Amino acid sequence: MYTIQTIDLKFQQVEETIASFLIQGEGKPVLIETGPHSTWIQLKFSLQHLGYQPKDLAAVLLTHIHFDHAGAAWEFAKAGVKVYLHPKGLEHLSNPERLWNSAAKIYGNEQMDTLWGPMESIDQSLLVPVEDKEQVLIEDLTFIPIHSPGHASHHIAWQLDDMIFTGDVGGVKINDGPVVPPCPPPDIDIEAWKASVAKILDRQPKGLYLTHFGKIINPKEHLDQLIEILDDWARWIKKRFDNKDQVDDITPEFMKYTAKQLESKGADKNLQKLYELANPSWMSVGGLLRYWKLKKENRL
Ligand SMILES: [Zn+2]
Repeated sequence: MYTIQTIDLKFQQVEETIASFLIQGEGKPVLIETGPHSTWIQLKFSLQHLGYQPKDLAAVLLTHIHFDHAGAAWEFAKAGVKVYLHPKGLEHLSNPERLWNSAAKIYGNEQMDTLWGPMESIDQSLLVPVEDKEQVLIEDLTFIPIHSPGHASHHIAWQLDDMIFTGDVGGVKINDGPVVPPCPPPDIDIEAWKASVAKILDRQPKGLYLTHFGKIINPKEHLDQLIEILDDWARWIKKRFDNKDQVDDITPEFMKYTAKQLESKGADKNLQKLYELANPSWMSVGGLLRYWKLKKENRL
């Protein structure tokens, strides 16, 4: 037997935007997602509260290497804990400079510090790449990593029995708001995303755990709604892409469009702010424009 604990990392001092999950079985516990380094103190405090130091963990499992999911992984590695991830993410975490620099290009240096915090390299001996659907046995727990590109090429959804930890491929849904797709550059691939969702549904999960944020008990309905909005956003951007608008021109209009969409699905202004924090809509403009550009150039 085991328990699954959702840890609220209180990103930017706001509740329920980024989560980590602690699985406590018969042996040492396993952590899924570390959050960014900016919430490291909060995570350490929460683990302490549950009776653990970072070094007490059996392993850290990452869904992908974006800062809001993997930014604090190096702290666990420093404590000797192994980090399981997609083979494509390995190089980035052992040499994080490139990852850092490309993010800094998007956010600017100042924002990088406030939002994400530092990222140090992880020794390759502590990074464990996992293949699609291989059985990963950690203590008494068996995890199945489901390679699931679409949001990121190095994305894994982690299955534990009939639950799946979906990272970002299962979308973002906060409180009782709707589910929306996070579409940051550079890896957005709508067809791959849909295939990944089908792959997840094939496993017949009874529940999903979203990093942004928490448990979903109706996976099929949830993922159907995700694909609907993913298609809607992709279509919206495609129209503007054909008109050759630039990111800066489109962004304010897209922000208005998505705010209205959230509102029409019952999210008030306050909740809309949480969505912006977990999934800034301006980022999805860049990601979806890039998708259409690559598609036009037959590079996908
Ligand atoms: Zn994320």
